[in-house]
Amino acid sequence: MGTERGSLRSLRDANRRRVIEALGQRGVASRADLARATGLSRSTVSSVVADLQRAGLVAERSGTDAVVHEAGVGRPPVLISLDRSAGGVVGIDFGHSHVAVAVADLSHTVLAERWEELDVDHAATDGLDAAVRLVEQALADADLPEDRVLGVGMGLPGPIHMPGGTVGSTSILPGWVGVDARAVMSERLGMPVRVENDANLGALAELVFGAGRGLSDFVYIKVSSGIGAGFVIGGRLHRGVGGTAGEIGHTQFSDSGFVCRCGNRGCLETTSAAGPITTAVSAARGERVNVAQVIELARAGDALAQRVLADAGRAIGVAVANLCNLLNPQRVIVGGELSAAGDVLLVPIVDSLRRHAIPTAAADVDVVAGQFGKRAEVMGALAVVLREPRHELASTVAEAVGERA
Ligand SMILES: [Zn+2]
Repeated sequence: MGTERGSLRSLRDANRRRVIEALGQRGVASRADLARATGLSRSTVSSVVADLQRAGLVAERSGTDAVVHEAGVGRPPVLISLDRSAGGVVGIDFGHSHVAVAVADLSHTVLAERWEELDVDHAATDGLDAAVRLVEQALADADLPEDRVLGVGMGLPGPIHMPGGTVGSTSILPGWVGVDARAVMSERLGMPVRVENDANLGALAELVFGAGRGLSDFVYIKVSSGIGAGFVIGGRLHRGVGGTAGEIGHTQFSDSGFVCRCGNRGCLETTSAAGPITTAVSAARGERVNVAQVIELARAGDALAQRVLADAGRAIGVAVANLCNLLNPQRVIVGGELSAAGDVLLVPIVDSLRRHAIPTAAADVDVVAGQFGKRAEVMGALAVVLREPRHELASTVAEAVGERA
């Protein structure tokens, strides 16, 4: 009998974790959505939700302010989300010249955001000090006590050695080399911290909050000072065995091209990232222009700026076509600083894709701009914790049910 009761309890605990996990991933869902997502029966889901409601961990929401439910048309079902008292998450993004912080609850509602311009490249300690201060301010803005923070996601604009999270390049973040940013931040905040690279953060931001919501397979391309990709395959971020998947910027285009920072020659980045684009436009105009100015010129009809951006788009599109042949995604989402150029960049990417991908792969995919601009990385830092690792978040909330029962 004892064993039987024990196994019943462990089954109930496992079901509870599955429901919390599915709800945490979606932010807002109906009981039917959760039954579909977990494979549990409607009655089991309803019973688990009732437990969670008794513990004050789940709140019902009116349909009007909630996201579109998966079932589609018809009378809107009652939507539920994890209650704010179940906890929240923090995202931190270190750019080259800013620190951004955001706080969200488990219904995926962003509660507070803070942004500070700062020369992050200069020294790691300045950046870390600023981030700690901004986290404190943002938690106060969000009215979320520190002990309710379930996890912190953090983005660094450089190659990160996983799983430790140290920065490993002298050329990208000179002031940060060898700093174990994850460990330092975790100790300063007294919270668990997960580190992710910028292209993966962009992919996660779109998966949880943006143009990748509800998609199982898509590719996020970040076009900025470098060109990187984040892959969502089967609904999960694909990092590769060493965390370096997605280095699309180092696709080789020419044996006799410029030498690249990676040590090879003729990589996509040497012709089509922010640096070569601004260099080409500046040289032709005889004045120094930055990325924002190139985009503004192109929008105003400047043929030279349009041509340089279109050439970059065409080259990126060839690499994207190869990617589509390999991965067969539903969508390619283009983010990063240069995505602000809009169709001037996107249309040539689509043209190349149609020209170079196999017809079936090209027919399955659409190309859209990312939804978050400069906020992509900080939104992704929130998404890191909301989305992965699923089990840790679910376990933490599931334990709270026991404590409150
Ligand atoms: Zn390279």
